Amino acid sequence: MPPTMKAAVYHGARDIRLEEVAVPTPAAGETLVRVLRSGICGTDASEWINGPKVFPVERRHSHSRHLGPIIPGHEFVGEIVTADPDSGLAVGDLVASGAGVWCGTCRRCREGRTNQCVRYKTLGLNLNGGMAEFVSVPSMTLCPLPAGLPLDHAGLAQPLAVGIHAARRAGARDGDSVVVIGAGAIGSFVLAGLSHLGDFDITVIDFPGGRLDRAARLGAARCLSPSRSLVDDVRDALGGRKPDVVIEASGAAGQLARALELVTDGGRVQAVGIPKGSPEIDIHAMVFREITLETTLAHVCDTDLPAALRILADSPLGGEFSRAPVGLDHLSASLDDLAAGRVEGKILIDPSQEALA
Ligand SMILES: [Zn+2]
Ligand SMILES: [Zn+2]
Repeated sequence: MPPTMKAAVYHGARDIRLEEVAVPTPAAGETLVRVLRSGICGTDASEWINGPKVFPVERRHSHSRHLGPIIPGHEFVGEIVTADPDSGLAVGDLVASGAGVWCGTCRRCREGRTNQCVRYKTLGLNLNGGMAEFVSVPSMTLCPLPAGLPLDHAGLAQPLAVGIHAARRAGARDGDSVVVIGAGAIGSFVLAGLSHLGDFDITVIDFPGGRLDRAARLGAARCLSPSRSLVDDVRDALGGRKPDVVIEASGAAGQLARALELVTDGGRVQAVGIPKGSPEIDIHAMVFREITLETTLAHVCDTDLPAALRILADSPLGGEFSRAPVGLDHLSASLDDLAAGRVEGKILIDPSQEALA
């Protein structure tokens, strides 16, 4: 084991430096992982542009705010280098990591809602994460990869787990018609989660083009594009009924209000992730139409991460999103591209590329 490693270190907005740092020493209950793929998402892009916000964890729990430099990366897969004897995992095993670390003893943890743990910490935001050659993580966040799953596909496991969690919380029942607004990465991961969880009639809404073509390949029964008459268009497409469940996965301005217009009386609307600004919604109409508004955050490691890996092994999703990985030296430029909306698919970093350079 070399004593030092290459790591991307976040110092503040638009300030990530490639540094030579000590290889972490795993504490009890931790596993040392050689990182093979490490993804970035909108959370990282937001930290890059506006950070450090470390949103949303320490808004609720100010004691957990990480103030010093930190290694980002909460979406990673790798190979076990030093195994935790209690984990059931061995040196050389390939694993995906969840993003969050939970205590296991608080009320929410005991309910199985470990993403709502009162002591929740996120790798890459509150603890050093996967944008380095090695990372030491609590063994409970690790899940073995299915045999033969390409690493570029496995690198999608954590964001897909977020989509599955959202799909679960949307509460659709078999036979329901479900509308997903937004066919970007998050919308696609929610769509994949819905297709995995039940027998739903799924309509996806986005602008015409490649995203909708992909949604059709991932299981949407039909795709529609936004228009002034969208509420009528959706109802017509569903044979005169409004949808039972509408999931807002675009984050775009006005779309949560749009979702509330689209859904049937007594139906459910879900806001996925964090909308831009503070959306105006018509609570008066919601009450009279008895609409349930659900939210969703992150994922539950023990259930959503294994489900994500099963989907990646069985579905075309990995091929739809994977791109050739780049080295750690491309991280800053990649975050710029992601923040500017210039990225289709999922950017994956392979920290070993930089190590060889
Ligand atoms: Zn993410
Ligand atoms: Zn807890």
